[in-house]
Amino acid sequence: MKARRIVIAGGGTAGWMAAAAIARVMGRAAEVTLVESDTIGTVGVGESTIPPLITFNRLLGINEAEFMRATQATFKLGIAFDGWKQAGDSYFHSFGLTGTDHWAAGFQHYWLDGQTRGHGQPYDDYCLELIAAREGKFAHLPDDRMNYAYQLDSALYGRFLRRMAEADGAHRIEGKIAQVELDGASGDIAALRLESGTRIEGDLFLDCTGFRALLIEQALHTGFDDWTHYLPCDAAIAVQTESVAPAVPFTRAMAHDAGWQWRIPLQHRVGNGIVYCSRYLDHDAALDRLLGNVEGRVLTQPNRIRFVTGARRKQWHRNCIALGLSGGFMEPLESTSIHLIQRAILRLIRMMPAGDVSPRDVAEFNDQQHTDMLQIRDFLILHYKVTERRDSPFWRQCATMEIPDSLAQKIELFRETGRVFRKNEELFAENSWVQVMLGQGIVPRSHHPIAAKLGDDDMARLLSTLRRNVATTVRGLPPHAAYVAQYCGVAPDA
Ligand code: FAD
Repeated sequence: MKARRIVIAGGGTAGWMAAAAIARVMGRAAEVTLVESDTIGTVGVGESTIPPLITFNRLLGINEAEFMRATQATFKLGIAFDGWKQAGDSYFHSFGLTGTDHWAAGFQHYWLDGQTRGHGQPYDDYCLELIAAREGKFAHLPDDRMNYAYQLDSALYGRFLRRMAEADGAHRIEGKIAQVELDGASGDIAALRLESGTRIEGDLFLDCTGFRALLIEQALHTGFDDWTHYLPCDAAIAVQTESVAPAVPFTRAMAHDAGWQWRIPLQHRVGNGIVYCSRYLDHDAALDRLLGNVEGRVLTQPNRIRFVTGARRKQWHRNCIALGLSGGFMEPLESTSIHLIQRAILRLIRMMPAGDVSPRDVAEFNDQQHTDMLQIRDFLILHYKVTERRDSPFWRQCATMEIPDSLAQKIELFRETGRVFRKNEELFAENSWVQVMLGQGIVPRSHHPIAAKLGDDDMARLLSTLRRNVATTVRGLPPHAAYVAQYCGVAPDA
């Protein structure tokens, strides 16, 4: 196989994830050059992740404790959604499985049937990760029985990946890209020209320039699908604060009358941000609201970010692949952006051209990436659409907005039958949809008849055993912050 010159434009999370993965997996079969500009910097957010990142790290042979030490990471078991169904209400979307799994009918059918027979315990009580999160506990369990992800410092994560990538032979150039040179005959990107005059030629160009989308849009004019009518938030402000309590193993997503606010506890500090719709809330009011709802001293200047939710029409166009924010952005609500970067990188490695880029590979890549994005988009819209909130123009807009047919079908199917189907290796599986749909207030009108097969005693035994198993396991877990300190080999007060 011919050595391919892979040029990565941008050194944020997307750029360094790509450099680290390609340098490690492809070895001498790829020559990786990354250009980043210290004066431009990175977006500076992106700290909450989902479980597949563990697979990515394992694939790269990353030692978990070392990674957590380097990125000041904590474990994450899910997200607490406060005030999404109604102001004052709260529910969890956790990782893992609730109850038990049956190929014909998910656990929600048994739980719903149990409710009709007087078993009134909450659905939450049957999920290990959810109860552990709520009680602030964590430990690794045998056979990966505890599903988790990380909350990490994105700047430190970038540095960690950079060290790995450079050790594996990736070459870094600091400088500002002044021009993207196109090949006159083919229309492909031929080279990047830096302000310093340096010219970087390549075979494949990965656009990791963030919202600027310098290659995929400014040079190649690929086009963008605007999804603001489904996901209306378009601004955010982020600040970091000192920790005032032991870190909990979950992210908070607290709804307010024009969007929501995140709180992400790390080992050394807490990440906070307000996400809002600028039509209903201006910058100053958003900043006041954010600063009025953080715990602990503010450590950083507010980082103001504007965005348009949507996706590049093609993630791979000509010899350029968009990774990260250059490919589009939906919402940080379910921590899916870093995951989409990871999916795209692994997909690209699978489809790495041996010679010329095959249009079939490109079509396949775009189709798979687009499917991922549409599925995630539906899941995100669900949180806004299915709400009982009518207390502000923002929530009234969300409750009455048009939604994609695919999502309408999913919501109505669940409302009528309690069923959820996972198609095309969808990221969010049945448990995620059920937790969020129940949490947002949908009560299925019926459920699978198979649950009625269980006699009353068997039903009582099933539910009490599952619930007891969760409670017993959680009782035996250590507090999360103490476990992190011990696992990472740092003194709890350090
Ligand atoms: P950036 O971080 O913006 O990096 C762009 C890079 O390109 C920089 O190195 C910059 O210097 C370089 N560059 C740009 N122009 C030039 C030029 N002309 N010359 C040279 N270099 C250049 N994701 C999650 O998974 N979880 C979250 O909790 C989460 N929260 C988020 C909250 C908000 C408000 C936002 C906006 C995003 C969030 N994300 C989250 C998304 C996440 O931040 C990004 O997916 C991730 O940081 C990747 O960003 P990036 O590398 O694409 O872009």
